[in-house]
Amino acid sequence: MKRRNFIKKTSISSLSLVAASAMIGCKGSDDEKSEEKPIVPLKNNIKPLVIATWNTPTAVNAAAEVLESGGSALDAVEAGCKIEEANAKNQTVGIGGLPDRDGNVTLDACIMDDKGNYGAVLCVENIKHVISVARKVMEDTPHVILAGRGAEQFAVSQGFEREDLLTEASKKAWEEWKVKSEYKPIINIENHDTIGMLAIDKEGNISGACTTSGLAYKMRGRVGDSPVIGGGLFIDNEIGGAAATGLGEEVLKTVGSFLVVELMRQGKSPQEACEEAIKRIVSKPNSNYKNFQVGYIAVNKRGEIGGYSIHEWFSYNVYKEGANKNIKSDYYLKT
Ligand code: ASP
Repeated sequence: MKRRNFIKKTSISSLSLVAASAMIGCKGSDDEKSEEKPIVPLKNNIKPLVIATWNTPTAVNAAAEVLESGGSALDAVEAGCKIEEANAKNQTVGIGGLPDRDGNVTLDACIMDDKGNYGAVLCVENIKHVISVARKVMEDTPHVILAGRGAEQFAVSQGFEREDLLTEASKKAWEEWKVKSEYKPIINIENHDTIGMLAIDKEGNISGACTTSGLAYKMRGRVGDSPVIGGGLFIDNEIGGAAATGLGEEVLKTVGSFLVVELMRQGKSPQEACEEAIKRIVSKPNSNYKNFQVGYIAVNKRGEIGGYSIHEWFSYNVYKEGANKNIKSDYYLKT
């Protein structure tokens, strides 16, 4: 992907480091149930499908290979995310991720399966494959979230190796940032690479995963939307799945991925649902949306997909019927 130098900044005042609040206000309560249209998969027509945020062809290929050889959607999304976690050139995921303002690389990840199970790790240091640690939390502990040192210790106990995640390139970038050391989180409109991935396997089951190093030069301990259920990722195997990228604080405040799935439950297409979820953000009073990016991807049970963002430059990769394509997302801010 050609990376254009199109950096926007937003001030600390625009950020609220508040966890997800119940602001979705979506329809779908009991009295409206009759309006819900179940999304019925087309019988005998289940084709493996992968969709992932940004220009991530190698990760999507890895996931597609798992699906084509009969593997589960859960195995596929884990395999796909691991590709970016191991890619030192991707400075927003795994090894090579840009550090926080104090120089610590801290990673967030979560995973959801087709049975509604969820596992996550938050603010983990020294472990590259946090998506696999999140899966271990989901499958091998009675909990759904482990954070910080506890998550790291759990990972080591499960055989994950500690390694230094701060590459020379990321250290250099951090040292350059430190010269001014302004705490204005840099909201890069086009050049995130947080990977949110959704997959449908040959059984028609949907799983999803999301992994990131979060915002560059964030405050120590900051966690965004990516590892939070309903924020960076949500899966409902009866309906579909959604994932988010961009300014996590804004995604969390609208419980974005959950909102997208609930909108699909009410009968919206994945595309319509992503557009509505972006509208929720930009139409908030005093929204500072011109200065930050949020992008959503979604898939429904029939294998229909959607993607939408606030600004131009968001794209997503889709694998379907043997082809892996990068699709430029439609976006809100056209002027
Ligand atoms: N959503 C991520 C976060 O806020 C960042 C990103 O997508 O680039 O941590």
